[in-house]
Amino acid sequence: MKKHNFSAGPSILPQSVFEKASEAVLNFENSGLSVLEISHRSKEFLNVIEKARALALQTAGLDDSYEVLFLHGGASTQFLSVPYNLLEKKAVYIDTGTWANKAIKEAQLFGKVEIINSSKSNGYKHIPKDIHVPADADYLHITTNNTIYGTQFHHIPNTEIPLVADMSSDIFSRELDYSKFSLIYAGSQKNLGASGSTMVIVKRDILGRVSRKIPSILDYQNQIKHESMFNTPTTFSVYVNLLVLQWIQEQGGIKAIENRNKHKAKLLYDEIDRNPLVEGYAAKEDRSLMNVSFFLKDASMQEKFDTLWKNANISGLKGHRNLGGYRASIYNAMPIQSIQVLVDVLKEFEKKS
Ligand code: PMP
Repeated sequence: MKKHNFSAGPSILPQSVFEKASEAVLNFENSGLSVLEISHRSKEFLNVIEKARALALQTAGLDDSYEVLFLHGGASTQFLSVPYNLLEKKAVYIDTGTWANKAIKEAQLFGKVEIINSSKSNGYKHIPKDIHVPADADYLHITTNNTIYGTQFHHIPNTEIPLVADMSSDIFSRELDYSKFSLIYAGSQKNLGASGSTMVIVKRDILGRVSRKIPSILDYQNQIKHESMFNTPTTFSVYVNLLVLQWIQEQGGIKAIENRNKHKAKLLYDEIDRNPLVEGYAAKEDRSLMNVSFFLKDASMQEKFDTLWKNANISGLKGHRNLGGYRASIYNAMPIQSIQVLVDVLKEFEKKS
């Protein structure tokens, strides 16, 4: 029996995507070849990557002043590719937790980095609000959704300088003015598909401004020139990206996805707020629609709670090791029925305690 998978990533994908991807592993579009064995230079694969690129732009509502790249190395490689390509004098970052910190640490290898806001002093429970962006910086970097603490930017800061966002854990989960961003990156393994590829959406006009030499594989301009095929791309992962992007369209696009995500998150947060045995971690106004971090008020009841959710066929509910407690990751593909199962477990926990 399929489990209710609340894992933070790799994570649940739509069942139809699992099915189509499985078929393509055996016989890709009746070609007599597996999607795992087709050449990245074949017309079949070129068609996949071209369609994925166009659908990503369409989903974000962006025009062709942006490029879409499918790169290797996860979001963690983008932590250094971004400053490599963009940091000349100074970059500014907002520190909203573990992943923002990792991005900051890498950027510091390339030049001056200023942290203009941080929510560290209260355990990253909130998103900084009073944001003043210096006009002389090369770019501002934010992490739109903080996968571990369960916070999310609900208002994207206005900037005169290029805005760069790590959207690994909330890409295409909601309507946004994506044109506010000059560069967006996201590892695939949450809302985009199978781990492997990293999507980078970049506005061409911010590139080519730094004086340093950039290694070819990390150079966005070089990757654009080679259409993400400077070396062998993560072909299977890109194929699953395409299936997920097509699924988003089938659902009615990003607005329909957002409405469903809001409804799902409300169902769970309402129970967390009602249930006297648990408490949510993030400040209410900054709660993430994707990652719901919560704690038991009485840690000695952990075993009892763990037994209940495991018996309900739930998987992946343990909190990140940096925070502890519990985390329900409820990405785009998470069905409302699975959230209802978790809500019922929380109610049963209260009843039996
Ligand atoms: N940024 C965020 C917001 C993340 O949640 C993660 C992974 N969970 C990363 C970056 C790192 O991604 P990767 O493993 O693809 O390098």
